[in-house]
Amino acid sequence: MTYRALCSFLKIAIGSGKDETYPFDLRTFCSTFGLDVSTTFNSLKILEMNGDLTLSEAIHQPTKLRLAIGNTALYDFQVHHEEFRPLISMLSRSYPGIFDQYFAIDEKVFAQRLKMTFPQIEKQLKELEKYGIVDVTWKTDMPTITLIHERLPDDYLSIQPEMYATRKAYAEKRLSAVRNFLQANECRTIQVLHYFGQSSEECGICDVCRSKILHESHAAYSITQTILDFLKEPRTEQECLLAFEISKDNLRKTLKTLHLEEKISYLNGKFHVK
Ligand SMILES: [Zn+2]
Repeated sequence: MTYRALCSFLKIAIGSGKDETYPFDLRTFCSTFGLDVSTTFNSLKILEMNGDLTLSEAIHQPTKLRLAIGNTALYDFQVHHEEFRPLISMLSRSYPGIFDQYFAIDEKVFAQRLKMTFPQIEKQLKELEKYGIVDVTWKTDMPTITLIHERLPDDYLSIQPEMYATRKAYAEKRLSAVRNFLQANECRTIQVLHYFGQSSEECGICDVCRSKILHESHAAYSITQTILDFLKEPRTEQECLLAFEISKDNLRKTLKTLHLEEKISYLNGKFHVK
């Protein structure tokens, strides 16, 4: 997705773009396609790790060019376009390999040697580019992207297995963190705040808290029922304590409630169901 958008942003056709360097403004790119800046940066980093492109910092890049046609065609062109002869012969004489590879050039030096102005040199280079005589990467102070291979058809871009494995391991790590979070029997609010180094009381409204409260009230309900069954015979508080796994406080609270609700009576130190 990012790759396709990138190629269309840089106007790279499928099958071209290999070893070419393009000035790249991330913010403009993102706003053009409505993409999130940090997500896009991460995607580009993945493409870089995957060996599809390299990203460079914002440093000055000189104009680089190479001659895009052969000797014979170049000769023909010069016959019909005399005005370019000095510049073309200077290029081919200064850089013998320029038919095969890119060379960084300094337009100012060219202007001095050819007794032309800087804008004139630039204008001629632009025209030569338009005629398809030269391939040019214009100088820039922007960060650049260099494509390692030609643009692939949309379905052919694949993430290298080792790259995929790294991403997968990372994704699984995150997934297991989420799973731990979901499985932990602790208040979600406490867990989240703990993650951020803060502490909190149980919130009482998350799923863990709610199920705990439900469980507790359920437990309280069944203990009440058990006590009522037990008190079908008159029993002392001590007998109740021995019969149930319940704290003295809780037992007293429950007995008090039952007494107030007039479900049990208290006579001669013993509780009894009415
Ligand atoms: Zn909670």
